[in-house]
Amino acid sequence: MELFKRILFSGRMLHRYRHALAEIYKTSPRHCQLRQISPATLKQKGVAVLVLDFDGVLAAHGEAYPAEELHHWLLECVNTFGSKQVFVLSNKPLPSRLDYMDRHLKGVRCITDVKKKPYPDGLQKIIALSGQPKEALMLVDDRLLTGCLAACITNVPVTYITRPYIRLSKRPVQELFFMTLRFLERRLVQLYILMKKEKGKRKKEQRL
Ligand SMILES: [Mg+2]
Repeated sequence: MELFKRILFSGRMLHRYRHALAEIYKTSPRHCQLRQISPATLKQKGVAVLVLDFDGVLAAHGEAYPAEELHHWLLECVNTFGSKQVFVLSNKPLPSRLDYMDRHLKGVRCITDVKKKPYPDGLQKIIALSGQPKEALMLVDDRLLTGCLAACITNVPVTYITRPYIRLSKRPVQELFFMTLRFLERRLVQLYILMKKEKGKRKKEQRL
C-alpha cells in the first residue's frame, strides 16, 4: 500500500515538476560520476551542505559500504564542509551503512525514519538540522524520479549522477531492475522535452 501511494505521488509530482526535471536532465553531463565532483568547487559555488544518496552514488545497489575508491573523496568532503554538514539520504538506510559512517566518518549523519524520496521529508529534515537555507544544499542523486524529484519539490539544488555505480556480476536481477527504471524515467523526461518543443513549434506556426 505504501509503495502504491508513493508511485501515485511520484506520478503527480512528475507532472507538476516536469519542466524542472527536464532542465536537470538537459543540463547534466552524460557521464557524470561522483568522484569527478570537486568538493572545493562546490563550496566555492556557495554549497554549504552536501547531501549524498547511497545506492548508485556511493556504491552499487545493496552494498553495505561506500566504494573503497571514494574513501578519500568522502574525507575531503568532511574537511571541506565539516562533518555536521554532510548527510546521507538513502531510501535504504541499512544498519551496516549507518555503522560505516559512524566508524569512518564521524559526525556525518544518515537520515532515517523519514518517508522515502521523492517525498520531500528527508530534505526538509536536513534543512532543519543544518540550519542553512535550502539554496545552500546540494543533493547528489542518480535517480530522476526519486532524488531529483524530491529536490524539485523542495527547491533544493541537485547534481544528477548519470554514470552510477553498477555491479551487474554481483546482483544481476537487482541491477537490471534499477537500470530499467533509470532508462524509463529518462525516456519519460525526454518525452516531456519533446512535447514542450512540439508545443513551442505549433505556437510559432500559429503566429506566422
Ligand atoms: Mg540511488
